[in-house]
Amino acid sequence: MTDARSTIAAPAFDAVAARRAILDRIAAAARAAGRDPADVTLTAVSKMQPEERVAAMLAAGQRVFGENRVQEALARWRHRREGLELRLIGPLQTNKAREAVAFFNVIETLDRPRLAQVLAQEIQRAGRAPRLYIEVNTGEEPQKAGVMPPEADAFIARCRDEFGLAVEGLMCIPPAGEPSGPHFALTAKIAARNGLRKLSMGMSGDFETAIGFGATSVRVGTALFGGR
Ligand SMILES: *Cc1c(COP(=O)(O)O)cnc(C)c1O
Repeated sequence: MTDARSTIAAPAFDAVAARRAILDRIAAAARAAGRDPADVTLTAVSKMQPEERVAAMLAAGQRVFGENRVQEALARWRHRREGLELRLIGPLQTNKAREAVAFFNVIETLDRPRLAQVLAQEIQRAGRAPRLYIEVNTGEEPQKAGVMPPEADAFIARCRDEFGLAVEGLMCIPPAGEPSGPHFALTAKIAARNGLRKLSMGMSGDFETAIGFGATSVRVGTALFGGR
């Protein structure tokens, strides 16, 4: 006797449908906020996802990916780097700055003067500059990376004036278990008063809220790929 149930394969990951669903939700949130859906980029957070799902997402047409760790990103993407936009969304140690500058299109986690200094040196040396976002620790959480909000204006000015870095925008990760809205609002306010037009805000659980507060890119992992 065979058990019929055991012969039914688990449904394959449908990357086209998963991506479509998130893009539709992004577009709806943008329209609801009176914004153009084309002004919001989906960053597919591929960290720790199985290769099969990542390959399917690539085949589905996704070109912007976010990774938390430099080494994991290199291992996953080095051999198929062409035509992609790769964004570092995890903390960057200064001893990985050279590799990060050489590899990523965008570094979203600039958060301290020493890192700004090292990035400036490596950009000079490489003759190649990733786009840079400053991470703001909006919840002032001691264990979290990011510049504290009261220090953000001065840090942005230092990055520009002292280190000569072209800062593109701000990024934030609101505290878990708190409404995200006030954190997005604060980040948007700091960006606006510093003339920064890009905002990386919103993850699986709150990207629609983030779009309402002006996010120009949302970092979606589990809602797109499934659990890690
Ligand atoms: C993992 C991660 C994400 C994606 O989180 P999900 O909840 O899976 O969408 C977004 N941003 C950062 C900085 C992350 O580390």
